[in-house]
Amino acid sequence: MELDEIVRFHGHLCPGLALGFRVANCAVKELGLSRSADEELVAVVENKSCAVDAIQMITGCTAGKGNLIFRDYGKQVYTFFRRGDGQAVRLAVRFIPPPESPEETAAWARYRAGDESSEVTSLVSRRKGEKTRAILAASDEELFTVSRPSEPPPSEAQIHPTVTCAVCGEMVMEPKTRRDPRGLVCIPCSQKS
Ligand SMILES: [Zn+2]
Ligand SMILES: [Zn+2]
Repeated sequence: MELDEIVRFHGHLCPGLALGFRVANCAVKELGLSRSADEELVAVVENKSCAVDAIQMITGCTAGKGNLIFRDYGKQVYTFFRRGDGQAVRLAVRFIPPPESPEETAAWARYRAGDESSEVTSLVSRRKGEKTRAILAASDEELFTVSRPSEPPPSEAQIHPTVTCAVCGEMVMEPKTRRDPRGLVCIPCSQKS
């Protein structure tokens, strides 16, 4: 899948998307996937960033199908498991972007503090473009530490019984309900007691 198709889906080209593009392609290569969208593939992503959109599109591992698993560790680590033969690959990003100029560092600080002047935003977008190009030009070795974990893939998504919330009457998966004096209630209702 070409980068511009992914950019169209995601809405913009950014360093995160470029990284996800490289992660997914590296995983496809490492696992020797003949077709990129492999039903047997499971991805575990350790952050929620723009990278995840590229990974979903290229590998076919999606949040909706349940073969994209999100672990909120704040790490740029991506692990792919192929259920069929137990092959797995773990990619830990180790890429160091090209150094920032002092004016770019200052612009980022102002941007984070809410400064959206054209002077600041143009420096920030120039910096993002520079990072994106560096990611796309780097070798896999520069981008990732690649390892082959031997642990089994995460267990498959379970099917849970559906119950009716005692307050709003909407259906909800049982493990997500809370018990309160009104009965079994959904999370939003439990927070409005
Ligand atoms: Zn993005
Ligand atoms: Zn409810």
